[in-house]
Amino acid sequence: MALILKNLSLVTPRGRVIERGYLMIEGERIAAIGEGAPPQALITQSLVTTLQYPQIIDATHKLAIPGLVNAHTHLEQTFMRGYSANHSLLDWLRNYIWKLQAAMTLDDIRLACTLGMIEAIRGGATAIVQHFKLPLTQEHTDAVLRAASALGVRLVLARGWADRGVNAESSASIMADLGRLFSDWHGGADGRITIANGPLAPWRCTPELLQRTTELARAHGAITHCHMNETQDEVAMTLKDSGMRPIEWFASLGLLGDDFDAVHGVWLSDRECALLAEHHATVAHCPGANMILASGVAPIVKLLQQGVNVALATDGPASNDGQDMIEMMRLAAFMARVTTLDPQVMSPSQVLDMATVNGARAARLPGGQLVVGAPADIVLIDMNAAHIQPIGHPLSSLVYSARGSDVDTVFVNGRILMADKQMVGVDEVALLDECRERAASLAKRAGISAA
Ligand SMILES: [Zn+2]
Repeated sequence: MALILKNLSLVTPRGRVIERGYLMIEGERIAAIGEGAPPQALITQSLVTTLQYPQIIDATHKLAIPGLVNAHTHLEQTFMRGYSANHSLLDWLRNYIWKLQAAMTLDDIRLACTLGMIEAIRGGATAIVQHFKLPLTQEHTDAVLRAASALGVRLVLARGWADRGVNAESSASIMADLGRLFSDWHGGADGRITIANGPLAPWRCTPELLQRTTELARAHGAITHCHMNETQDEVAMTLKDSGMRPIEWFASLGLLGDDFDAVHGVWLSDRECALLAEHHATVAHCPGANMILASGVAPIVKLLQQGVNVALATDGPASNDGQDMIEMMRLAAFMARVTTLDPQVMSPSQVLDMATVNGARAARLPGGQLVVGAPADIVLIDMNAAHIQPIGHPLSSLVYSARGSDVDTVFVNGRILMADKQMVGVDEVALLDECRERAASLAKRAGISAA
């Protein structure tokens, strides 16, 4: 199948905008991009390769951007929204999130994650790094992977684990399940699903298992993805345990590399920033979650200046409380400027890179740029709205004016997941009804009311 989008604006690498151009998708790939009207030769080429006329869609007032990569979330937390007000990270985890998570049934997980994926797609994400905290049984994990496979989104499942503290799992069970996931799911669903090693946080993991799981991930060409330096309390815990700050401790264990994602990285010393740069590691920046939980401000401008790969993420829907990556771009820009008092930092193009190409690099995914030959992971934003028009500069309008609800059409691997703001093949009304009912009975079972 071939499809040509015409009369649209496109964001190409390094923030270059084609104000009026075309884009052609053939099968799973971007087959052509150009300025002006699509040339007749493209239609001829499509006839030769696909033996049929391409579908041509007039996309006037749409802006095509690379699909956004949400570099860190916990999708199952859609059933836990609304509990984060007035709590610090550790209080919120212990008194709400851990209790709710422990009470989730298989159906709860499937529905909560499906809802989270739909919300993410609606907010412009084509790829999601799902740091999955609830591998209670193999079926729980497989339910998430099957849901992603059916919806068509790209998903990296970082298998969460902790072998110390509350709900600690045995090292044998963690190693066996990770091994199973790599052999059964890594590269599944036409390459849309990959597996990662997901230790939950330094203070919840033993050094031996951190090293063994990282070795296993490396043997499969996969990443290790861990919450790091999110709050001052957590840094203090690792300092007490190991005599080192978390990033220093991980470096001493040989865990840092271009296959390592430090999620949050809020409280980083100069030495830790330098270590991340030296090892070509990634920081997954979650500005929304860091603000709502009053965790602090990550030194993103400094990290970028030192050459660290910074990706952008929402974190879980319970600490954000949404999955809107367009809003995260805006928050990241605002947060960087107000904390450095420098209006020159964090240009719209730099923020978009964090949400696209840097995220793809962090998660070891293809794409992240609108270029010929790349997978057709594309988002069309409807720019014909009162809160956006008239457009001064398309990238500024995207980052400062657009909202997740302006996402109009979403392609992943050439497949249309959403068109004209409607999810394709999903009964959202019925899904929302079912989720409401399930979330209420979950809170009741866990003995929790919103506070
Ligand atoms: Zn998280």
